[in-house]
Amino acid sequence: MATAHFVFVPLMSQGHLIPAVDTAMLLATHGAVCTVIVTPASAARVRPTVESAQRSGLRLRLAEFPLDYAGAGLPEGVDSTDDGHVPPQFMPRYFLAVSRIRDAVERHLRDAASPPPTCVVADFCHPWTSGLAAALAVPRLTFFSTCALCLLCHHNLEKFRAFDGVVGDDEPVPVPGLPPTSTSSTITVTRAQAPRFFRGVPGWEKFADDVERAWAESDGDVINTFLEMEPEFVAGYVAARGTKVWTVGPVALYHRTTATLALRGHTHNSVAGAVDADECLRWLDGKDPSSVVYVSFGSIVDLEEKQTIELGLGLESSGHPFVWVVKSPNRHGETAASFLRDLEARVAGRGLLVWGWAPQALILSHGAVGAFVTHCGWNSTMEAATAGVAVVAWPHFADQFVNAKMAVEVLRIGVGVGVEEPVVYQRVKKEIVVGRETVEAAVRSAMDGGEEGEARRRRARALSAKATAAMREGGSSHANLVDLVKRFQPRHVVESGARNGKATSQLHPSADL
Ligand code: UDP
Repeated sequence: MATAHFVFVPLMSQGHLIPAVDTAMLLATHGAVCTVIVTPASAARVRPTVESAQRSGLRLRLAEFPLDYAGAGLPEGVDSTDDGHVPPQFMPRYFLAVSRIRDAVERHLRDAASPPPTCVVADFCHPWTSGLAAALAVPRLTFFSTCALCLLCHHNLEKFRAFDGVVGDDEPVPVPGLPPTSTSSTITVTRAQAPRFFRGVPGWEKFADDVERAWAESDGDVINTFLEMEPEFVAGYVAARGTKVWTVGPVALYHRTTATLALRGHTHNSVAGAVDADECLRWLDGKDPSSVVYVSFGSIVDLEEKQTIELGLGLESSGHPFVWVVKSPNRHGETAASFLRDLEARVAGRGLLVWGWAPQALILSHGAVGAFVTHCGWNSTMEAATAGVAVVAWPHFADQFVNAKMAVEVLRIGVGVGVEEPVVYQRVKKEIVVGRETVEAAVRSAMDGGEEGEARRRRARALSAKATAAMREGGSSHANLVDLVKRFQPRHVVESGARNGKATSQLHPSADL
């Protein structure tokens, strides 16, 4: 029988790539064929996961397209470091280089893809995929790994011009038009905290316009969230944009075994002193239930030296066992690296420092973990919710401030460390350092915290149960995944049409988009 063929075009950084690949695998488990467009560097990060999915019979493949580094004025292999982290100064040219694979991707999909593609699912950072989908005459969906609250905040802040007349970047304004929830009647953000999708960032004006245009023209959004987590905001977002939305998360729940969780996101730890998944599990096995604090700030954030030291001392004095992902030594200055090595020796047995990449979703799923000190990247926030652990919210940039508000104010599963401004990218102040006492107090509050702490943990566990239910047969995300596969089957060949003013599908999915 003819089947849906989704072509995923993820942004190649881990926070976008990993959930996109998880989503592709989920669609493949429901019978779709999926092609994931990758560069050689990003292919390396997901190949073990994809090969494991292929061995289990899923029709999922990677299609690799090399970047023309020189042509885009980029250093050769700028995206091939162990961390896979393209330095901010190269990002505009990196986006340019990626957009230039378009013709090769189109040729590949026309000539070699079988069955023919029926839908492009593209990260919002790839506005060029508008043209790709139009040339292939298939619909295009926009992929987000952020919450509906964040998307709605962005939409309403722009629509109601909420920052007009607001002078300072640190002046809070209430986000207009948000539906009230049982726990929050209003959310306030400063300009610096607002999710901007590249808006207002000097030098990115055209790109921000392209992103908005491609988003508005797309045939719907696929979001790594789940309905029961934020029903009011999902409904509010759908109503505000008048678009079709499929909530499909938590997509990390594709992984049901230790083996696939351990592979997720990284091929190997070549970093000296790195621990592997088995070692992490053995270490956690020796700890009491819910006694360990897991600390990680995702794939992009690097802490300043002073901050590393304050965090380390705060964790040490909290008295709780901890696992801290400190990334590669080359991401620390000499002082911080030597502090970390000393700390590692001092807290041996009570604190585990993970050098390099950590099997995060695997660690969080272990019963010994009780709280997660996180930068509130949306994947991490979802993974905390899925695991049912309390959160210490420590946002650094972009959507992380709104995600933190989601965890602390809406879901009430976390406590904040009090950081109100970006410390990387659109940074406002020169130095923001969270002191050791604040770290210690926040960790104690998340792990102990008396009645309030117990209530937070209860809510986190309840949310975890809802997350699992959403992905089971009969659950909301499960139903949306099934719906996607059904809708984008090549059942109806229709004449070229126009939607949102653009020519669309000849090979159109069956339902009314
Ligand atoms: N991640 C991981 N190990 C690490 C660092 C990150 O598995 O050492 C995963 C994490 O589980 C999440 C993703 O990488 O799925 C990071 O995405 P997030 O949105 O949390 O943050 P970002 O890295 O985009 O800032």
